[in-house]
Amino acid sequence: MPTETGIAFEEIKARRGKLRDACREQRVAAFAVLALPNVRYLSGFTGSNAALLVTGDREVLFTDSRYTIQAEEESDCDIQIAKGPLIEALVRYAQRLGVTRLAFERNRISFDDHQRLAAARGAIRLKGLSQTVERLRLLKSPAEIAAIRAAVNLNSAALERALRRFKPGATELDLAAEIEYSMRQLGSDGVAFETIVASGPRSALPHARPTANKIAPDQLLLIDMGALAAGYASDMTRTLAVGALKSSKARRMYHAVWEAQLAALDAVKPGVPASAVDFAARHVLRRSGFDKLFIHSTGHGLGLEIHEAPRLGRKEAVRLEAGMVITIEPGVYSEGFGGVRIEDTVVVTPAGCEVLTPTTKELRFT
Ligand code: ZN
Ligand code: ZN
Repeated sequence: MPTETGIAFEEIKARRGKLRDACREQRVAAFAVLALPNVRYLSGFTGSNAALLVTGDREVLFTDSRYTIQAEEESDCDIQIAKGPLIEALVRYAQRLGVTRLAFERNRISFDDHQRLAAARGAIRLKGLSQTVERLRLLKSPAEIAAIRAAVNLNSAALERALRRFKPGATELDLAAEIEYSMRQLGSDGVAFETIVASGPRSALPHARPTANKIAPDQLLLIDMGALAAGYASDMTRTLAVGALKSSKARRMYHAVWEAQLAALDAVKPGVPASAVDFAARHVLRRSGFDKLFIHSTGHGLGLEIHEAPRLGRKEAVRLEAGMVITIEPGVYSEGFGGVRIEDTVVVTPAGCEVLTPTTKELRFT
């Protein structure tokens, strides 16, 4: 039976089985999951206050009374409605079960929660582990890839709808609002991150916030957007222009980034280190002299979160595997002039990769 989020209970149960294998390897009897995306991954529950205890034979989801009905609907785990900090309720419960050694997510716990955990642990020995659930999330199942594909298609459809509604004289904020409104109309759960609409010199800021500036003709216009669908993220950047783009520098930048993006896509295959994909993009940009203006990494994994492992940077030794979903997004940024970035979401396949993003990369004018 599929859950509220479109992933079958059987699949979520199998994920907990893999977490139990990891517990055995680490010689811990139980695992306290505190990061909300990890709780969602392992339980199906989408509420904003939750913790999950997984032992050898039990799975207990802790939340508060606002979520009693939702937790029953979304998760097949045992549910405990707690008053006060969930971590305290979880530790007390683990004590009653006779847990002797409890792992927790050391990269995801707040200082306060760590102090509460240490104070309430009693005879339980604690072991801080990093990236345990994140590692399980690296490879996406067919159902997850289907969810991401739906989010990518929705995102691309939202861009087309927003561009059709674009009127000369609109501001960056107007266009960002049209994009997010279109996402909602098309059935998105929301944005995966704050929509970036940056025109003219502001497009040289890789993570610009939209402003009340009017989008002027004959300038670079950078749009980076991601819709959430069934909890899964999409991520796309396109750079376009209003009316025309006469500047030969802007056109050269555009074509260099496009070529670099295609070279990076070409490098994506199972067994290839992430750094080799990054190198492929930089190598192309060096030919046109734009490599020094490429100031971030080439891409990142995505799934329930917009930024997940692996990172595709210069020094990333992790090797790509079929089933990873990543972005490929080289960009060049010329201060005071403008920037170009082109970003697709792709899935690594046994033969190479499949580009999920259907939106054209031809330089287009709106
Ligand atoms: Zn992006
Ligand atoms: Zn991205």
